[in-house]
Amino acid sequence: MNKADSERLESAMGQMGLSSTDSPMNADVIVLNSCVVRQSAEDKVTGLLTSLKPLKNTARNPILGLMGCMVGPNQDTLKKKFPYVDVFMQPQQYEPLIDVLGEKLGVDPEGCVGPLSAKPDVTAYIPIIHGCDKFCSFCIIPYRRGREISRTVDEVVFETKQLTQKGVKEITLLGQNVDSYGHDLPGKPDLGDLLTALNELENLERIRFLTSHPNDMSDHIIDSVANLNKVCEHINLPFQAGDDTVLNNMRRGYTNYHYRDLIDKIRSRIPNVSLSTDLIVGFCGETDVQFEKSLQLIEDIRFDKLHAASYSTRKGTISDRMMTDDVPLETKKKRLEIIETVQKDILTESNASLVGETFEILVEGRKRGKWFGRNRNDKLIYFQSEAARKGEMINVIIVDSSPWSLSGTKIPEQVSL
Ligand code: SF4
Repeated sequence: MNKADSERLESAMGQMGLSSTDSPMNADVIVLNSCVVRQSAEDKVTGLLTSLKPLKNTARNPILGLMGCMVGPNQDTLKKKFPYVDVFMQPQQYEPLIDVLGEKLGVDPEGCVGPLSAKPDVTAYIPIIHGCDKFCSFCIIPYRRGREISRTVDEVVFETKQLTQKGVKEITLLGQNVDSYGHDLPGKPDLGDLLTALNELENLERIRFLTSHPNDMSDHIIDSVANLNKVCEHINLPFQAGDDTVLNNMRRGYTNYHYRDLIDKIRSRIPNVSLSTDLIVGFCGETDVQFEKSLQLIEDIRFDKLHAASYSTRKGTISDRMMTDDVPLETKKKRLEIIETVQKDILTESNASLVGETFEILVEGRKRGKWFGRNRNDKLIYFQSEAARKGEMINVIIVDSSPWSLSGTKIPEQVSL
């Protein structure tokens, strides 16, 4: 979500005639886009802001902006703490900076905020719903990003069309809980309706979406992924914990049984679907036995991607106010290590089983002398080729694997006679 916000701001600034530079020393405008999902992320932003302060006393005196989740509706405390910051912007609301720049540069800011105006990449993120209504006990997001607000189907379709005209081939629809898209709109279109409308667009090759919530993953969404040819067979479905008491304390609203049942349904309706997930270890009161249930779930489901984080309390959340962060740091670290080892073994095995298979990939670029792209299942694939082009769809046969990626060889196109 932050990446998408940064891209939009960069685009708006590009339209005003500004371009990026590789050092803060050379910049006339410096914006930090903050994440507060973990305390360490917020600490990093605070440290960086402090280190940028001396630049305000140089001849260049850059405009300093802070945006993202660190900026809530009331900015008094932040203004006192960082009096040298010129502009504070809540998530997605970077108009204040554009106004300041417009004044300074003598450019009319009208029209600079909106869909991407600079040349985007071949893949793009499109936020479709902002905020979250769920209030999981460990999470700060609903307090910082506010309640759910969906963009209309027409607005998203229009933006996507514009992006495809600029060469974008794949879009990822974003939301803290993308599955609850549309409930606040007239007529209540859902994510399945939006996917159906986007599937019709010419020149768009692929559609993905992030992040889902087990309670809102409806049959209509699952069937849309199964039936729409441009929607990729990949679902990110965080489970967060395998034990029902821990899930209840997290206020996630589902059980281990419900989650497994949903996975069975998704797998039975979408052949070859790949699944990714997020989980937290060491949540307040989590015992070894309760942690084992998370581990068992990982071993049983065998996710294609997993992001595990150890619990750290966030001030103002329900768990901070009502529970005790009582799992020792060492135990949290140990649990993370166990999960990472198990997941690595799963991926070593499952990726090795893909050697010899052929996948269609969208070429995204070049890294360390090799081309790379992703297949529909979101597997990262490297390949060697003299004649590849960013943005083209090619077929690659897999020749080697590691837990984190695959390598292959481009299959030459068939010449039709
Ligand atoms: S659904 Fe996600 S964003 Fe919303 S409160 Fe829960 S963890 Fe946070």
